[in-house]
Amino acid sequence: MAVYHDEVEIEDFEYDEDTETYYYPCPCGDRFAVTKEDLENGEEVATCPSCSLIIRVIYDKEDFMSGEVIEAPKATKLELVKS
Ligand SMILES: [Zn+2]
Repeated sequence: MAVYHDEVEIEDFEYDEDTETYYYPCPCGDRFAVTKEDLENGEEVATCPSCSLIIRVIYDKEDFMSGEVIEAPKATKLELVKS
């Protein structure tokens, strides 16, 4: 099991629209980073590129997942493709 340095709510992160990445200050002077895509995939760990610390991101996964429809192909769709 991973040992988290801290647990931080997503609201406390700083969002960079250019890179679609959420940042949070790390005690080492760098920043923890987790991308919006990671969050949409259910990832909840933000990592720091300069040290080994990790933090757990507290957020509502449904808020990030509901916006995009990424569903596995359903049986009905496969049948449509075949016909
Ligand atoms: Zn760090």
